[in-house]
Amino acid sequence: MLKATSETERKMRDYTRQVSTINSVCSLVAFLPTIFAIYAGIPYLYFFILVPSQILVIAGISYYKYHIERSAREIEVSPSKYVLDNTMSYAIFSISLPILLFMFILFYSLTSLQRVITINLLFVMSLLFVVSNLPASRMKRISKPLEDAYLVGKAEEISNKLGTGKLGIYVLNLGRFRIANAGQVGAMKYSVFITDYLLDNLSPEENVAVIAHEFAHARQRHVLKTAVIAWAITAVAGNLMVFPVDVGTYPVLSLVLPAIGFLFLMLAMLLIIPGIQRRFELEADLIAASVVNGMDLVNALQKITRLNFAPSEISRHWSMDHPPTRERVKKIIAYTQGNATSPNVQGTKATHNIPK
Ligand SMILES: [Zn+2]
Repeated sequence: MLKATSETERKMRDYTRQVSTINSVCSLVAFLPTIFAIYAGIPYLYFFILVPSQILVIAGISYYKYHIERSAREIEVSPSKYVLDNTMSYAIFSISLPILLFMFILFYSLTSLQRVITINLLFVMSLLFVVSNLPASRMKRISKPLEDAYLVGKAEEISNKLGTGKLGIYVLNLGRFRIANAGQVGAMKYSVFITDYLLDNLSPEENVAVIAHEFAHARQRHVLKTAVIAWAITAVAGNLMVFPVDVGTYPVLSLVLPAIGFLFLMLAMLLIIPGIQRRFELEADLIAASVVNGMDLVNALQKITRLNFAPSEISRHWSMDHPPTRERVKKIIAYTQGNATSPNVQGTKATHNIPK
């Protein structure tokens, strides 16, 4: 009975593997020559010869990637726009790499105390950015408020049930890129964004389920929690890493503390934070399933997986911040059938039971 699905899953896995291989090759092309140029100490050659050649090679690879994307996901974007968009991000990376390195060298020419002050100022600034409304207001520029009367009405019902207060819902116009996604943006003031591709391809009930999931993120303050946890970890690790190297009396500490800081940061980025985010996803799923029909959410998740052509069985990367669709579906169904209790939701019960 799983024959057809496993065939699709195999195709999806092949596609995902191809795309991630291409992305790795592009990163290497953008990264390795830079390291070489810096090592050889040839900055002029770098900007005038190396960067343009890197960009040309990446543009060529992007054109190849475009064909894979087009046959797998039937994207409608023009090849030139696709290649330009894809190449741009790598070009920014290879141009900014030497600048970052220069700032790094400048940073290490400061005294220990200056370094500690600088890094903590940067941390405070980054936290202010995260809790500010800047990311959402930038996204609103390419969006329009959700107008569908049915969805707006349902969203109001859900926000009343969850006690989130009124939340703005915006439709992100990504046009022919065909990305089905939704997200809650903002750590203090909450907005929900839905891509046009998702809105157009999901049934009204499935869209309502997606909105409920995003509202659940807002209710649980997941964005704020993730930001504060990530910020605290980076601040601790950063301070350990710039620990005064000239402490004199304890020279061993000046090696051990930065190493501990670095390991802690790696551990946090690869395991701790993605782990917390996966937990938040499952929590948002179950809270959503307590105010809408759980099966609508299940159908929405499975449809989104198909629309984005991502395998539902394996996650693309082991540190991925979303659990595999299959795991989420299993948990939602268990909750809807009353076999599991939702975390942090007092007094709410699944509103619909699905036939067993
Ligand atoms: Zn989510």
